[in-house]
Amino acid sequence: MAGGRAIGVDLGATNARAAVVDRSTGAIVAASKEPHVDRSPQAVVEGVARAVREVARAAAVDLGAVGCVGVGVAGQCLGATGLVMNAPNLGWRDVPLGSLLERSLSTPVRVVNDLSAAAWGEQRFGAARGIDDVVLVFVGSGVGSGLILGGRLHEGAWGVGGELGHVKVRPLRPGTRPRRCGCGMTGCLEAYTSGVNVAARVREELAAGAASAVRELVQGDLSRVSASAVDAAFEQGDGYARELWEEVGELLGTTIANVVTLLNPTRVILGGGVLLGAPHLEAIVRRVLSQQVSASAAKQLSVERAHLGDDAGVIGAALL
Ligand SMILES: [Zn+2]
Repeated sequence: MAGGRAIGVDLGATNARAAVVDRSTGAIVAASKEPHVDRSPQAVVEGVARAVREVARAAAVDLGAVGCVGVGVAGQCLGATGLVMNAPNLGWRDVPLGSLLERSLSTPVRVVNDLSAAAWGEQRFGAARGIDDVVLVFVGSGVGSGLILGGRLHEGAWGVGGELGHVKVRPLRPGTRPRRCGCGMTGCLEAYTSGVNVAARVREELAAGAASAVRELVQGDLSRVSASAVDAAFEQGDGYARELWEEVGELLGTTIANVVTLLNPTRVILGGGVLLGAPHLEAIVRRVLSQQVSASAAKQLSVERAHLGDDAGVIGAALL
């Protein structure tokens, strides 16, 4: 710890963002962004190290005195070991990110799943300030969650807990053809509800001749199909969009309700570009959640939107 300041990194698919964060206020004192030249572990580690040195210099923080640098990464991380088992957005499998970065920076590094970092950031300075039992659910290009239970970040026995996007929402019954997920399995929540998968499905169905206002909204250019285009079609009363959002909203709302019934948090935080960029979908998710959650777990439960936006991850990573 250097003067109550900490350094965090949000390692995304296209860039690494480093920030110096004030531990007592959560304010970002300095930030630096390094786009990935390529996604090889060596190149990314060098970019992260550059971004970290840059913010440390900008905020006059001595890297040696900061104690530990926190790094949030979108992928399955074996928490304490710093090993990234699988980060599809970076195309990584079994990359020892923690030790590579420690060697490059000559300082200890803590690697954590990006949504665990975001949950921690929101719990310290955002939508769940001071609340001990929090479930954060993000629906963006992917789907995931971060869990804080009894005031502690819950990463599971070896760090891969909270993978809400890969809980199964479609049965394996013979004759059914569940959609394949980016993780390699079929029937995952993410395969039905993430921005990437919703857009892919709408493109397939429009290409196969489905009638929907989405086609006009993207002016016939199917590469522009997105969750917000579906939401805009819903707004116009489009039957296709209404049916799709009922299905997607039911899957998300029911799954979140099941998590709440299981874990009994006092707050659920909703975030991510799909949920926050598609208000009609968000409304259905909230309605289904309240219908499906057990009455006992619903008592004193509140559902809030994420407050810290894109900063949650980097703030949480710094403070972990
Ligand atoms: Zn999956």
